[in-house]
Amino acid sequence: MPYIDFTELKSRTDIAQVAQLLPLVLKPHGNQQRGPCPACNKGGDRTLVITPERGLFYCFSAKIGGDFIKLVAHIKGCTQNEAAQLIENAIGDKRASDRKADVQTGNAAAPPNGTAAKLKPLPYLEAEHPMVEALGISVATAEAFGGGYAGKGVLRGRFALPVYSREGTLLAYAGLAVSKQQSPQLLFHNFDPGVAIFNAHRLTDGGELIVCRDPLQLLLAVENGIAMETIIAFLTDSISVRQFEQLASLMKETQKVSAQLF
Ligand SMILES: [Zn+2]
Repeated sequence: MPYIDFTELKSRTDIAQVAQLLPLVLKPHGNQQRGPCPACNKGGDRTLVITPERGLFYCFSAKIGGDFIKLVAHIKGCTQNEAAQLIENAIGDKRASDRKADVQTGNAAAPPNGTAAKLKPLPYLEAEHPMVEALGISVATAEAFGGGYAGKGVLRGRFALPVYSREGTLLAYAGLAVSKQQSPQLLFHNFDPGVAIFNAHRLTDGGELIVCRDPLQLLLAVENGIAMETIIAFLTDSISVRQFEQLASLMKETQKVSAQLF
């Protein structure tokens, strides 16, 4: 087995991204994500706790905790070296498939030599902000989606929400209007919003799919008790054939028989 540098691996991904590689059904609880532990298969549906901002997990059932390598080791029942290898393979594959998707959509942001930096989460977004609260979004929901008020940057003065690929790669931030003075159109920087379906990376298999008009409707639905693993939104006002095809394959992939539109 090849040697994997844990520290280097940790610089390239985080526990939130790694959690998406695992068969976990997590729900936001304040600044944590909680769900049943598929490895222990006991202890109820809040047994497994992930605290993304600290990069840690804890399983109340097994009384085991630690970083994302230990998380994968616990869930997969393997050694930490094997876990690191699994993560390395998954994020390596993802980079390759993302590049392929970019080429197919003609939306390649990265130069062919692949030197473009990976988009990093914006550290300065404020989940707790009066403008966010005024939209009807609680701090817990804003945090669960990794969004917040942007006090600076290209989305300054807007509620910024991360947009991920189906595989969980951070693609862009959507800037939502927070006041009537701002254009209600979602704002993006160097990104074609027609290539992604918002929140698709969180969908779990089976059940009904809920499709919202836009990310704000989606967050408000989650605010009011809709599970975040069941709901998606488009990022554009009009929907192209490609987006419908994307939706159809997403529904097939997650075994949804029907979708409810809002
Ligand atoms: Zn466990």
